[in-house]
Amino acid sequence: MSVWRSLRAAPSWIYPLALGIVVLLLPALGLSFAMTRQVQLACIMALVVSGLSLSLGYAGELALGQPAMYAAGAYTAGLMSIAGYTDIVVQLVVSGLVALAVGIVTGIPGLRLGSWSLAMTSFFLVLLVPDVIAVFGDTTGGRNGLSGIEPATLFGHVLDAANNEFYLVIVVVTIAWFAVMRNLVVSRHGIAFRTLKQSPVLASSVGVSVFRMKLLGYAIGAFPAGLAGALFANIDMFVSPEAFGFTFATAVLAACILGGAASVYGALIGAAIMQFGPNQASDFQQYALVFYGGFLIVGGVLLSGGLGKLAKAGLSKLDRAAGLSGARAAEREANAILPQMDPMEGQPLAIEGISKAFGGNQALSDVRLCAQPGQVTALIGPNGSGKTTTLNMICGFYKPDSGRILVGDTAVQGLAPDQVARVGVARTFQTPNIPEHVTVLEAVASGRYSTDRVSMFAAVLRLPRFRKVRSADLTEAKRALEMVGMAHLADETASTLPLGMRRLLEVARSMVAKPRVLLLDEVASGLDENEVERLADVIRGLRDAGATVVLVEHNFQLVLELADRIVVLAQGTVIADGSPTEIEHDPRVLSEYLGVTVEESCSRTIADEESALAEEVKS
Ligand code: ADP
Ligand code: MG
Repeated sequence: MSVWRSLRAAPSWIYPLALGIVVLLLPALGLSFAMTRQVQLACIMALVVSGLSLSLGYAGELALGQPAMYAAGAYTAGLMSIAGYTDIVVQLVVSGLVALAVGIVTGIPGLRLGSWSLAMTSFFLVLLVPDVIAVFGDTTGGRNGLSGIEPATLFGHVLDAANNEFYLVIVVVTIAWFAVMRNLVVSRHGIAFRTLKQSPVLASSVGVSVFRMKLLGYAIGAFPAGLAGALFANIDMFVSPEAFGFTFATAVLAACILGGAASVYGALIGAAIMQFGPNQASDFQQYALVFYGGFLIVGGVLLSGGLGKLAKAGLSKLDRAAGLSGARAAEREANAILPQMDPMEGQPLAIEGISKAFGGNQALSDVRLCAQPGQVTALIGPNGSGKTTTLNMICGFYKPDSGRILVGDTAVQGLAPDQVARVGVARTFQTPNIPEHVTVLEAVASGRYSTDRVSMFAAVLRLPRFRKVRSADLTEAKRALEMVGMAHLADETASTLPLGMRRLLEVARSMVAKPRVLLLDEVASGLDENEVERLADVIRGLRDAGATVVLVEHNFQLVLELADRIVVLAQGTVIADGSPTEIEHDPRVLSEYLGVTVEESCSRTIADEESALAEEVKS
């Protein structure tokens, strides 16, 4: 077990890199020509599959158009070669960009329409490829294929196939792409992709533009397909339309599902199995589709998450056996002290007479509310009175029919949710919204998506800017976890936490970005006594740090304890607004909200009752 422990102590990218270097050296170690060819084809397929993983496994879009982008890359490289541009680097760049353009152009309509439309349009695209190639028969060679491709060159040096020089190019490109993929996936953008797949609502609430992100996932997924195409064109120096048909599309999908769509190296595993498994059988071509279809079903039905997930599960089992994760879980401190909170620059939130009807149901009418920095403003009311709807309105999930919402001086009504998030509004959800396949720490850090922006480019190349922001992300997330008393759970899988912990996780996620306005929707429900106490401390800490806190809460006692000001909603209208003492004694609140009728409340004087009735008549 100690061997295992020291193996796991090395950075995780060492092993794939070592494997890549071994593959790079295979021909020098005497691998046969037939096998080197198989390795090259497996690499090429892995590139295409990896693009599909990115859009399907991470962005959650069933985009099947990879073979079309692969074809675009292959023909681009082939035609460039015929035109005299044989340099492989130039071909790779141009083919990748052409594939990217094809991906974006074909992706936009499908993404606009929704997931199944994307599957249909992209699938249709694949069926069209041979015909499109035939239509441009004069340049592409039509159904006869494109011949006359010259051997590729690298900086003027002709790459010798007999010397396996082109093999080296293919393996190096594959290693480089998977390094890019890995860097992307572990960065905040990768977490954003996974969040998006799980819940577009959650993603937009932390400032991710859903459409833009999906399009990016689809476009970036097209790029490796273009690279693969360029490499493929140079292997046989011949490209024919058959290579890009339905059979190939099925093989790619099967490899993706089998390897595990939501796993970086799953694409490699899946592609290797597809290339070295069925392809070795004689008469394979005839039954290829049956084989691939079979793999697809086996992968989809028996292996949810694919072999990649299976491998991960195996790893964490070994970790537990070696006491690696157990040790961490044990270091829980029972009464950890609340760490010092940095000052927060809260902004006043003003809701000025918003109304909203859903069909005939007037959910909100003329709601007014003002929340000040350094105060907790509680929003209470019976079920269905419009509290969550009010929060959704602030966040931009619904557009008010009338009225204004101001954060500081910025009017946010009418903005999209991700734009509101970027103005500085953070929230938790009544039903906790936790992405799958991410650790607690990553889930909390994802709350900082819209602060300290970092481009994907910087993330992939690990530029200094990325490193700086990443370390800030992790520091802030760790601190937030300490505050809610969950530091010991940082490396656990977020989606497996019990309800109380999920709520606290959301609170931590909502505060890492130092929001201008913080909206907490029923955060205390489902928490045990200790957790409620912890939560109350955290909310007080946030208030004292200067945050603007809007607290929707059922626990009246907790509200009285925490709130500086209470706004009471009933049936979509504000029926009371004042200090806790005022609200506690407001007869309308007592009857509407607490279900106590005026007669029942015997501690009240007749004068009290009279004034209450008078007020009821007035309103
Ligand atoms: P609360 O959070 O105070 O319990 P909500 O804000 O969830 O209440 O709901 C207020 C009212 O608005 C309810 O009558 C609910 O049915 C209605 N409502 C909320 N969202 C929608 C929606 N998307 N479509 C139709 N009706 C809605
Ligand atoms: Mg609600």
